[in-house]
Amino acid sequence: MSDINRNFVAGEWASGAQEIENRNPSDTTDLIGLFAQADLDQLDATLDQARKAQAEWAAFGMERKQAVLMNIGNEMMQRAEELGRLLSREEGKPLAEGRGEVYRAGQFFTYYAAECLRQLGENADSVRDGVEIDVRREPVGVVAVVSPWNFPTATASWKIAPALCYGNAVVWKPANITPASAVALTEIIVRQDIPKGLFSLVMGAGSTIGQRLVEHPSVDAISFTGSVPVGKGIATAAIQNLTKVQMEMGSKNALAVMEDGDLDLAVSVALGGAFGGTGQKCTASSRLIVHAAVHDAFVEKLVAGAQAMKVGHALHEGTQMGPVVSAQQFKENLDYVALGQSEGAELACGGARLDMPHDGFYMSPGIFLNTTNDMRINREEMFAPLAAVIKVESYDQALATVNDTNFGLTSGIVTRDLARATHFRRNARTGVVTVNLPTAGTDYHVPFGGRGDSSYGPREQGKSAAEFYTTVKTAYISAGVPT
Ligand code: NDP
Repeated sequence: MSDINRNFVAGEWASGAQEIENRNPSDTTDLIGLFAQADLDQLDATLDQARKAQAEWAAFGMERKQAVLMNIGNEMMQRAEELGRLLSREEGKPLAEGRGEVYRAGQFFTYYAAECLRQLGENADSVRDGVEIDVRREPVGVVAVVSPWNFPTATASWKIAPALCYGNAVVWKPANITPASAVALTEIIVRQDIPKGLFSLVMGAGSTIGQRLVEHPSVDAISFTGSVPVGKGIATAAIQNLTKVQMEMGSKNALAVMEDGDLDLAVSVALGGAFGGTGQKCTASSRLIVHAAVHDAFVEKLVAGAQAMKVGHALHEGTQMGPVVSAQQFKENLDYVALGQSEGAELACGGARLDMPHDGFYMSPGIFLNTTNDMRINREEMFAPLAAVIKVESYDQALATVNDTNFGLTSGIVTRDLARATHFRRNARTGVVTVNLPTAGTDYHVPFGGRGDSSYGPREQGKSAAEFYTTVKTAYISAGVPT
């Protein structure tokens, strides 16, 4: 029997009423461990302690806070190989991606370590004589972080790092599919010079502990990444307490391939954008909108590229695409393959279960041809290694198709035409736009978020994070006349 990996509740490691198994999606005979499930009393206790700890932490000097965040970030970067291996083992992305994710997560901490020293406000003269105004940011209080499994370390880190930087306490409910990465990050954070209970880990089911957390009146702000239905439920719960909320909920991102673009670049950008992370990215290029003049040549190279991709065990050398994360996600993916075919799309390659030496959730990268933008496979987020090609006759039609979606996280164009690239950047209705680059892959020092069903509330990352993790105070000062 494995040891039980515990939660961190009210400043102590704690077992729960029950535990769940965590298995490797590359090889389901590999048991990663048993993970405690927090109970509702533990949640109440940790929220009480978080409130006290937050006041203490907010009073720490800014260099003391900076040192904490810097230590966390440096340790993550130094241990990227080891923690990346653990991440890939439980999530299924190839080791290079797992290692890269942990390193990037460390960079979020070092970036926000520096931000600890840059908490500048504003000042102004009042319209009233002899009165001065200063405007400064204060912590919002106790922040609930609810994070997904597809970037178990990076997504959580781009929420936790700014939350701590701006003086808040954090209660973290990670996805139950990827608890090992959550325990590893927690172990690093709670070893630092922080008040008891400032940071909590409450692993457990979203429908029970997650729901109670987002309904809790002691939570001042909720940052969530996940699906649209869960996001809407969280917003509904949050409004009952007028809790601040920020949500990022996936997309149906499009890459427009123009006839004047570099064809080989377009193919590699499309393959990376569609199948990186097994297509399980909110920024994945799931709609490939291709100009008729290059459609056939593009499709030929794209299909050949997808067929050449090496699907395999996440930790094995040479694997380019790992397994799907879970049996449930795999079933949904296969349902989407059947749905696409029933809608009249042609499956040019992939989209099938692969027999492998290990018992895992292996699926070949799939490409649909002859699709239209009104098909459900082009309207709904599949979160699968599946991409659909939509043929268009002009740049204008390409742009209109890119924008014809309920979502709006990222979009991209492959073109050599400066005028088109510029027009696209300014008219694509997405929060992120790329030119001659994949729709997936963003930096950490600039805003991230989308429009429509993709996002709600202030942007994440970079300086924008301050909007969410702080509240503004406007002070009026009448100093009087010197005597
Ligand atoms: P969910 O939205 O169900 O889960 C995201 C997070 O929310 C998890 O931590 C989950 O916990 C938690 N959660 C679930 N229900 C509640 C609730 N009622 N109250 C509070 N927290 C809750 O996503 P799934 O993991 O089920 O994935 C389903 C689909 O969502 C994917 O196929 C994809 O389309 C989309 N998705 C989008 C992501 C993105 O990056 N935008 C990331 C992940 C998924 P638990 O794990 O215990 O259920």
